[in-house]
Amino acid sequence: MPPVLPEHYRRIYELLEVSISRFDCGRKCAPLNGGEPVCCSTQNAVPVVHKAEYKELQRRTDLWHDFKAYDSATRKIVKDLHKSCAAVECKGVAFCERDNRSLACRAFPFFPYMSREGKFIGLAFYWDFEDRCWVMSNLQIVDRVFVEEFVKAYEYLFTVDPREYETFVEYSATMRRVFSRKRRPIPLVGRDGGYLKVLPHGRGIKPAKAEDFKKSAPFNSERNYARAVRDAGGVPSAAGLVAELGGAP
Ligand code: SF4
Ligand code: SF4
Repeated sequence: MPPVLPEHYRRIYELLEVSISRFDCGRKCAPLNGGEPVCCSTQNAVPVVHKAEYKELQRRTDLWHDFKAYDSATRKIVKDLHKSCAAVECKGVAFCERDNRSLACRAFPFFPYMSREGKFIGLAFYWDFEDRCWVMSNLQIVDRVFVEEFVKAYEYLFTVDPREYETFVEYSATMRRVFSRKRRPIPLVGRDGGYLKVLPHGRGIKPAKAEDFKKSAPFNSERNYARAVRDAGGVPSAAGLVAELGGAP
């Protein structure tokens, strides 16, 4: 297999440039997380990048450095990394450089969802963050342009690094197992428009409406959200849970 190169990531960054929404979703999750967007905090997740991606980032900017493990869990993450990967950390949200975000930053909270047959049919979310990531309870805000760019970027990635495709095939199967155990449909943003739900226990994939998807606590009511923000010592954004998008949701 030919090696994955920094220029492959240069191309991926060109393909996936737009934000997931014109709404700044960090305003919804940051009050629950000490004022910092949840996906920009290594207290929540350690960013892992391909070493070719790290080289490309280092060529472009000094925003990123090696991640320093701070406890036994993060030491284990670093120790168990595949040799092609590196754990990294940016300087923090105050120093964010839009053009020098990693692929993980650009794609979060989504990953490419593969059907049982291995077809890339839509965008699923990293469900472990459902109680902290507001977007996962508000899929209606996801822009179609973002979806189109996401699909192009990952399709390109799969051609240059088929191992990534295999990773998402496995991860999608894990999500099916987890959601089947919970008897929950998997919500998807369809790659070709609209929304889908993957029914538990292999009962098929059906069209869906974003507003029918279950919202997770604390994003399931204004009251729960306000309480969670208070408990976290934060201040809710003026609009509470609702995005200022001309009536949505
Ligand atoms: S994607 Fe989710 S975790 Fe990241 S800033 Fe938006 S709401 Fe917060
Ligand atoms: S580069 Fe920007 S988007 Fe990515 S983790 Fe850092 S602050 Fe967040």
